[in-house]
Amino acid sequence: MAGKVSAMTMHEVAGSFGGLGFGSGRPVIMAGPCSVESEEQILSAAHAVKAAGATALRGGAFKPRTSPKAFQGLGEAGLKLLAEARRQTGLPVVTEVMDGSHLDLVAQYADVLQIGSRNMQNFSLLKEVGRVGKPVMLKRGLSATLQEWLGATEYIVAGGCREVILCERGIRTFETYTRNTLDLSIAVAAKEISGFPVIIDPSHAAGRRDLIPALSEAALAAGADGLMIEVHPKPEAALSDADQQLNFEAFRSLMSRLQLLPVAAIETVEGCRSEIDRIDDQMLELLARRMQAARRIGELKEQNGMATYQPDRERLILERLVASAQGLGPGEVRAVWEAIMGCSRRVQERAG
Ligand code: PEP
Ligand code: MN
Repeated sequence: MAGKVSAMTMHEVAGSFGGLGFGSGRPVIMAGPCSVESEEQILSAAHAVKAAGATALRGGAFKPRTSPKAFQGLGEAGLKLLAEARRQTGLPVVTEVMDGSHLDLVAQYADVLQIGSRNMQNFSLLKEVGRVGKPVMLKRGLSATLQEWLGATEYIVAGGCREVILCERGIRTFETYTRNTLDLSIAVAAKEISGFPVIIDPSHAAGRRDLIPALSEAALAAGADGLMIEVHPKPEAALSDADQQLNFEAFRSLMSRLQLLPVAAIETVEGCRSEIDRIDDQMLELLARRMQAARRIGELKEQNGMATYQPDRERLILERLVASAQGLGPGEVRAVWEAIMGCSRRVQERAG
């Protein structure tokens, strides 16, 4: 088992990594087409993913294709289009470097350099990419063990790079229904052992768009720092990975399911109503659990001879919540929690 390759904590890395925003508490969402295909395609995708709440634009200009006859990417023209998309949207750009001879060129345009699965053990490329001074996203090899994956990160770190992002994208197994098998257990272990942020790529893992929402939810529940999702304006016409790319509407609904869709992106009264209904359902469930806890604490206070009403405790609760009120005014926080604590007191009095 490889040892710890980085002593960095998420607290220390916050704010770095090419502006991706790790450590903010919100997952990093890299989204965009598998390949940059045209100006219209990449600009429309960049604006669509940005509006839906993505935090980075991911697109390939140099593509590692199984057949040399398949579309190989637009090369430098694609990099220029990515830079224009960044200028228009403000999204940092993540793109793959396939070959050491392109490294300087790709580094001029990219905020994060991606090393693809097929190059995970291209040790000379790993050493070179580690010297560039930009964050590197290292995708797990098609059949790499944890130890091999972490060993590869050490080559990048040896070049001076401290900003390595690991990306689990599924491994080869006997299963053929999916393109690869998403290996969340090793993603969790890689994060724990290396201390580096881990991104999950359900698009290449599943190879089919129908599984992406559930796998994305599972990845975030398992503690992944973010997702990489392939998004294309017309997936069925994509020049690469047509079966796994989401269209704009499907990406938006994925972001809504993950509760990452910015509220400002909701365009209709009905849309806002359904968001409010969803939030109310969640709040009701939480309030019911809070009242259960109140009932129980009422019993425990009675057993311990304590008074139900503890004004100091209520004051502390309010102070803590007002201090962390995310965009809510102190008056709003007080009004809501005074009502909640009033109910809680009545529940405790009945329980005691
Ligand atoms: C990609 O991210 O575009 C890609 C080719 O993925 P992988 O290297 O994981 O196959
Ligand atoms: Mn792809």
